[in-house]
Amino acid sequence: SSGPLSGQVALVTGASSGIGAATALSLARAGASVALVARRADRLEALAGQIRDLGGQAEVIGADLSDQTQARAAVQTTHERLGRLDILVNNAGLMLLGPVAGADPSDFTRMLDLNVLAVMTLTHAALDVMKPQGTGHVVNISSVSGRGASPLSAGYSATKWALGGFSEGLRQEVRLDGIRVTVVEPGVVATELTDHITHQGTKDTYESRIATMTPLEAEDIAAAVLYAVTQPKRVNVNEILIRPLDQG
Ligand code: NDP
Repeated sequence: SSGPLSGQVALVTGASSGIGAATALSLARAGASVALVARRADRLEALAGQIRDLGGQAEVIGADLSDQTQARAAVQTTHERLGRLDILVNNAGLMLLGPVAGADPSDFTRMLDLNVLAVMTLTHAALDVMKPQGTGHVVNISSVSGRGASPLSAGYSATKWALGGFSEGLRQEVRLDGIRVTVVEPGVVATELTDHITHQGTKDTYESRIATMTPLEAEDIAAAVLYAVTQPKRVNVNEILIRPLDQG
C-alpha cells in the first residue's frame, strides 16, 4: 500500500481497545503493516478485518504481556510473520488508581508487570531486530501521571515515572543505531481504562470527574503517535504531552 509508512512494520500492544486500536488503525492507514497484540483476540480479529478491508496488512497475536515469555514471543512472531520491525508502540497498560494504604497489593504487581516490565522486555526483544536494521522507533505511551503524581495515583504514577526513566536512558543509548524514542503523555482519554480499577470508591470518584469534562478521544493520541513516526529521520520527537482543554 502507499502512504508515508509504506514498507514499514509496526507492532502495537493493547490494540484491542482505546488508544492502541486507534493507533494501529492510523498506522495501517499510513501504509504500515501492523501486528496487533493484546489478550482479546476476537477484538484484534475484528480490527484486522477492518484494516484488510482498507487494503492494509494486519497480523493478530494474542498474548498476555504481563507474562514476559509471551511478551518476548510477540516481538519474535511479528518479525517472523512480517519480516522486519520498524515501530514498536508500547501502549498496553493498566491504571489501577487508589490509595496506597489498604490497596490490594496485587494491583501494584499487575501494573508493574504490564506498564513497566513488559515494555522493557518488548523493547529488549525489538532491539535485536532494529539494531541490525539500523532503523527503528520505540513509542512509549506514558501519561500526565508520568510527569506528576497526586493522591490515588501513587502506584500508577510509579509505573509511568519508571517508563520515563527507561525511555530517556534508552533514547541516549540507541540514537546512534538509528533508533528513535518517543514518549507520549496523554491526559484524560475516553477509553475502557477506568473499567479495571479495583478500588470502588476511587473508581466512582474518577468516573464522576471525567463526566464533568470533554475528554480526549483515542484518535487524538493516535494522531500524536502518527506525527512522531512520520517525521524525517533526523527528527527525534522525544516527548508529547496532551491534555483535554478541560483538564487543569
Ligand atoms: P484501554 O483499557 O482501552 O486499553 C488497554 C489495552 O491494554 C487493551 O487493548 C488491553 O487489551 C491491553 N492490555 C491490558 N492488559 C493486558 C495484558 N495483560 N496483556 C496484553 N494486553 C493487555 O485503555 P487506554 O487505551 O486508555 O490505555 C492505553 C494506554 O494509555 C495505557 O498505557 C494507559 O496507561 C495510557 N493512558 C491512558 C489515559 C486515559 O485517560 N485513557 C491517560 C494517559 C495514559 P486486552 O484486555 O484485550 O488484553
